[in-house]
Amino acid sequence: MKKLLQVMKFGGTSVGDAECIARVARIVADAAVRHSVVVVVSAMSGVTNRLIQAAVRCETGDQSESQTLAEQLRAQHESALRALISNEVKRAALAQTLEQVIAETARLCHGTALLRELTPRTLDAISSAGERLSAPLVAGALVELGLRSEAMNATELIVTDNHHGDAEPLMGPTRDRAEARLRPLLTDGMVPVVTGYIGATREGVLTTLGRGGSDYSATLLGAALGADETIIWTDVDGVMTADPRLVPETRTLPEISYHEAAELAYFGAKVLHPKTLRPVTQAGGTVWIRNSFAPEKSGTKIAPQSRPAPGGVKALTAIRDVTLITVGGPGIVGALDILARTFSTTARARANVLLISQSSSQNDICFVVPSSEAERAIAALRKTFAQELAHQQVEHINVDANVAIVAAVGEKMKGTPGIAGRTFSALGRENINVIAIAQGSSEYNISFVVEAGAMKRAVLVLHKEFGLDRRTPMEENGLAEAAGVEPWPK
Ligand code: ADP
Ligand code: ASP
Ligand code: MG
Repeated sequence: MKKLLQVMKFGGTSVGDAECIARVARIVADAAVRHSVVVVVSAMSGVTNRLIQAAVRCETGDQSESQTLAEQLRAQHESALRALISNEVKRAALAQTLEQVIAETARLCHGTALLRELTPRTLDAISSAGERLSAPLVAGALVELGLRSEAMNATELIVTDNHHGDAEPLMGPTRDRAEARLRPLLTDGMVPVVTGYIGATREGVLTTLGRGGSDYSATLLGAALGADETIIWTDVDGVMTADPRLVPETRTLPEISYHEAAELAYFGAKVLHPKTLRPVTQAGGTVWIRNSFAPEKSGTKIAPQSRPAPGGVKALTAIRDVTLITVGGPGIVGALDILARTFSTTARARANVLLISQSSSQNDICFVVPSSEAERAIAALRKTFAQELAHQQVEHINVDANVAIVAAVGEKMKGTPGIAGRTFSALGRENINVIAIAQGSSEYNISFVVEAGAMKRAVLVLHKEFGLDRRTPMEENGLAEAAGVEPWPK
């Protein structure tokens, strides 16, 4: 009988130290008894941040941080290695693999400091070191449990364009590579451990998929191989009704739909990289979010459809580091091409527009982009509209970085009247000023802009307003089991 294929991704905290990696290995070994398994791993927690910081410091000519980092990486990974691998010969071979990655990273940092130049390509090579260190460790831990396993660099599997730092995968070639490289290993009963976050151009130059991109790596490989399930193992019980760091009474959702999960990810729910659901929306397959520290819990099932929340709103999300840009002035009235030129400019500048709102008199177009992309978007807009600004057809391009987006998400919001009314009345009662509003025609979400300082209050008020702190009757009756969650071996 054909075995079920599972892609399992483990995040940074889940592989944070030897004890965590040993727990991960047990989860994989349990699954591998019945299923074919591909493992995708992140860097050990904190490593990617430290690599990026050191690289940025090197650009100023200061190598001190990169030197300490090399020592820290060696100490951290070798200590895990000692705890995980009992066989001395295997340990020495693995130590050599790790040392190669650390030495190469140190050389790249040195080159950066000498040239005082950090290209996006070099930053990718440096920031990807964490995954190239963690994958061999996890594969080693699996071998220790008697599995046949091998670490694999995703540069051999995920083919991308050359937008370093935020590369777009090319699905056709990725599928071909996954079939050619992974399928034979799976057929042979092996468990490949693939580096998350990383890809390569057709020419083989290493790229990265953006911060938090290992989730995306997992669903990409899941879609490429036609996996039955992709399980994203993290440090919380699943997708919650709101960011648990903002709302103490948050609840784990037993199930959500692809659309709902995609909206939450897009609007900043850190538990999923914004593009995670893209590959599965086309390819199908179930995605699970589960807690690697509590594998007995069923987690959240993400499927094409899910039961709606009684009040329409299923979850809330918020994004802080965003910037509101307003292109406007009375001169815009009737100038039909301004809208088209505004957004073709932001697209060319590769600024990700998260929300758009336009006043009906067409005096103002306002939209929100991540703050890290705002500077290049504004520079590009000022260039595009140089003439109009000079002749005051466009009177201003204003910028406000002190804002946040809050979004309410739920499949059943479509066709449930009064949700927008309840949302804005509740905010009004709390004196929270709403700066801009957007609701897509899909009506899976209502998103709005508030001052950054009011973001947390807005999320708390709406969490209560829509009763998200209360369990639904279906959950009371054990919906998780009804949803077909396999009990996890303890
Ligand atoms: P990993 O390292 O496993 O990829 P992340 O830190 O990227 O984990 O994502 C998990 C974190 O996302 C959680 O610890 C939690 O603080 C945060 N988070 C934000 N919003 C949500 C949400 N709606 N549901 C669950 N977790 C969320
Ligand atoms: N290690 C990468 C990061 O920290 C990718 C990931 O963890 O998903 O962004
Ligand atoms: Mg993550």
